[in-house]
Amino acid sequence: MSEPSYHHTQKAPWFLLLFGFAGLFFTVAWVTRAEPVLPAILLVSGLLMATLGYSMQHLTVCDEGDRLAICFGPLPLFRKRIRYDGIIGVEIGRTTIMDGWGIHWSPWGGWVWNIWGRDCVVIRHQRGITRVGTDDAEGLAEFLKTGLAANPGQQPFTEVSPMLNRKIAFLVLSVAVLATASAHAQYHIYWGDMHGHTANSDGKGSLDDYFIHARDAARLDFVVVSDHDFGNAAPWHMPKETWTLTQDKVDQYTVNGKFVAIAGYEWTSQPKYWTPEEPIFTGPAKFYNHKNVYFPARVEYLFSAKDPAYNSPNLLAQAAQKVGGLIQNNHPIGEEARDQWDYTSAFESVIVNTEMGPDVIRYDGKEYKPQWEAKVREFLNLGRTTGFVAGSDTHEGKPVARTAVLARGLTRPAIFEALRHRRNYAVFNAKIVLDFKIDGHVMGEEIEIQGKPRIAVGVQGTNKIEEVAIVRDGTVLHSLQPGTPNAKFEYVDEAFCGNSYYYVRVIQADKDEHGNRSHAWSSPIWVKKK
Ligand SMILES: [Zn+2]
Ligand SMILES: [Zn+2]
Repeated sequence: MSEPSYHHTQKAPWFLLLFGFAGLFFTVAWVTRAEPVLPAILLVSGLLMATLGYSMQHLTVCDEGDRLAICFGPLPLFRKRIRYDGIIGVEIGRTTIMDGWGIHWSPWGGWVWNIWGRDCVVIRHQRGITRVGTDDAEGLAEFLKTGLAANPGQQPFTEVSPMLNRKIAFLVLSVAVLATASAHAQYHIYWGDMHGHTANSDGKGSLDDYFIHARDAARLDFVVVSDHDFGNAAPWHMPKETWTLTQDKVDQYTVNGKFVAIAGYEWTSQPKYWTPEEPIFTGPAKFYNHKNVYFPARVEYLFSAKDPAYNSPNLLAQAAQKVGGLIQNNHPIGEEARDQWDYTSAFESVIVNTEMGPDVIRYDGKEYKPQWEAKVREFLNLGRTTGFVAGSDTHEGKPVARTAVLARGLTRPAIFEALRHRRNYAVFNAKIVLDFKIDGHVMGEEIEIQGKPRIAVGVQGTNKIEEVAIVRDGTVLHSLQPGTPNAKFEYVDEAFCGNSYYYVRVIQADKDEHGNRSHAWSSPIWVKKK
């Protein structure tokens, strides 16, 4: 087929609608960003709509020598070619409202390629019918008919190129994979308190007071309530109704994406409760100290330290493991914590975290040296593993932000998933944002690497940062004094000997009312040579 050559472009405004949808999807994705899956789906849909909007702004029909090309643009994702030698007949027709816009199969037979309006040219070819929507139906039909008349002898038919270009399939797939991957790779920081009491043990206020303070005053993302397992009165066993009520209340206050309440208790094995002054327990005194135990779902009753079935850390861990519970070592300081760490390595997947605090604490004008961080390091130096959390241990029913978790969403399962992987860090006072990675791996991980560990640290403080220190195997490997609220650096441990743990400690210039500076401690990363 030869001249006259044909080229016609028709524009239409409906791509604006696609961009509108894209914007809407992005907005809703942002609003629901705390949800685990929905934002990823919305993001993919939004990107798809934006891509469609960019590729369907005009429709061009043009002569390409031996074939007619029908292309949406400017992004050339959708195009179709019809070889002239396959064309059997051409006529002017109308699409119906039902046919709408875009590319689709028509209930009246054949494929419709339409951008606007209802006029079309019906092209019959050996493989079927194509309805090309155009505001130049007469011109196009005339052009095609002239060609047909000039070439009556038709070749055996060839191709009609596939409607859905392989490129778009690839693009959509890539966008979907990228969006899903980024949604899952990206952790959000959620702030919470892992430790606090109400009047159900030795604290003040009701469970309602506690959760309302956590949610509305402290503006926490999540909170653990942890009354002592012995309750608040003889016979020194938290009544089962109280435990049931605790579980009812956490469900009542939990709203996914907004606030997560977690039912826990403080497993309390402290020598003073064996003494005549506070004769809560009988038998020989234990020095296991306290551990908070918390559950992702309801359990019949707590595992009390008074109960011989659960009166050691190993027995407790065994019971908690069966119901998906997690345990943390509380305030591992002082003589009462003598046997705090007395559990097997196998249970480090249940007793995953430990409360962290400063070595020196000032309170009401006095200075105390609990050597808190040093105690935790002693445990790590034995080759053991634990992540770091913190809690206010409020007895006033007023929890505050002490622990940050890096979770995929603000739901109870997502918070537990983060805690279980030690993807959490402890702060003392200020909500310091801390990012700590080794070779791209996040805090809490145990990794094997080739070469030297590349340590990346990012801090967004709330005041001047006095010191950022990388601790390796119990001693400071590298430190700097930024003097600014933000710090970001990389450090390669050239002296890596093949098996080390690392964590980051941040000290900020601001002080609380007792004169304590704000701190943050990342959970460690354990690195082995591959
Ligand atoms: Zn305690
Ligand atoms: Zn406590």
